[in-house]
Amino acid sequence: MINIPTDLLPLDGRFGCGPSKVRPEAVAALAAVGTDYLGTSHRQARVQFEVSALRNGIAELFALPDGYEVLLGNGGTTAFWDAATFGLIDHCSQHLRFGEFSSKFADAAAAAPFLGQPSNIVAEPGTHPLPVADASVDAYCLTHNETSTGVAMPLHRPAGAEGLVLVDATSAAGGLRFDPHEVDVYYFAPQKCLSSDGGLWLAAVSPAAIERIERIAASDRWVPASLDLGIALDNSRKDQTYNTPALATIFLANQQVDWINQHGGLEWAARRCDESAEAIYGWAEASSYATPFVALTEQRSHVVATIDLDADLVDANVVSKVLRANGVLDTESYRKLGRNQVRVALFPSIDPADVEALTACIDHVVAALA
Ligand SMILES: *Cc1c(COP(=O)(O)O)cnc(C)c1O
Repeated sequence: MINIPTDLLPLDGRFGCGPSKVRPEAVAALAAVGTDYLGTSHRQARVQFEVSALRNGIAELFALPDGYEVLLGNGGTTAFWDAATFGLIDHCSQHLRFGEFSSKFADAAAAAPFLGQPSNIVAEPGTHPLPVADASVDAYCLTHNETSTGVAMPLHRPAGAEGLVLVDATSAAGGLRFDPHEVDVYYFAPQKCLSSDGGLWLAAVSPAAIERIERIAASDRWVPASLDLGIALDNSRKDQTYNTPALATIFLANQQVDWINQHGGLEWAARRCDESAEAIYGWAEASSYATPFVALTEQRSHVVATIDLDADLVDANVVSKVLRANGVLDTESYRKLGRNQVRVALFPSIDPADVEALTACIDHVVAALA
């Protein structure tokens, strides 16, 4: 057993990419509403107030333009892919595939019998492609941050395109900058930058996307009710969900949005992530055995860092195991990527000083293993 000296350890050892660190202050706030909020009806004013605060807080966080609305429903991002397949794609979608998550939505759309075959634009893991305007495409499907590889991409409507721009922002929302004018649906789940729990999806949607949702919902396409975005739209406007949501998840997400907005909003949160990114990529570039997996600096994610370790020198799985035994958790790389790598969340809740401490811990473990 390798013991990491206590003075090297981060104050909080949670570096997982989801579920990720929940701030102790938010947990304390949740405990404080343990008897008047938890365990009460989601059809009554107290819970609707919380949903309303979350929807308004997200609109403020993203500085949503007039006419954009915040929708929510149960099932997390994966359920939202199915809902979007049913309720947002008219005939044909274009998907940027550059990792595990971006590929999953493409697969869902490809399997839908009522849609044409989607077009795919593929890039090697560790890079990202760009969308290309295509007259046959009515939905461009982008991923703001590919959590499996640690690649972030800029969000822009493809020049000359008329379709909707749908963005999976699950690990980006609340940590990366973007211009909402460039997107129609910016969807995510709150167990990453929003430091809450899983099982809920949230989406900031443009007027054009609302029109699409309403038109498809009114058409004769069969849609299961729990995945019907028309039903989700109606319920969201009443600060409700179609079926019972997890009240703790809503509360914790709201705590986080509030925390970020109180401190200066998305720019403040993004700057905190920039600081953590500088700490870990700077360390890796200076290291004799660690290298940022993503070669292009501008494609390196500031919310999820992937760092290759020299396989001749050290086994990354062993490093993560030793870290775990010392209370430093979830630095394992995305398994299917198959690299000798550590993956580290840099979400706003994670203190940049703790990321700095983590790099010292990795140096200590690698030296001890050598
Ligand atoms: C975590 C993640 C998902 C999956 O989210 P679920 O809520 O578990 O369905 C999808 N896309 C991205 C980019 C993610 O990081």
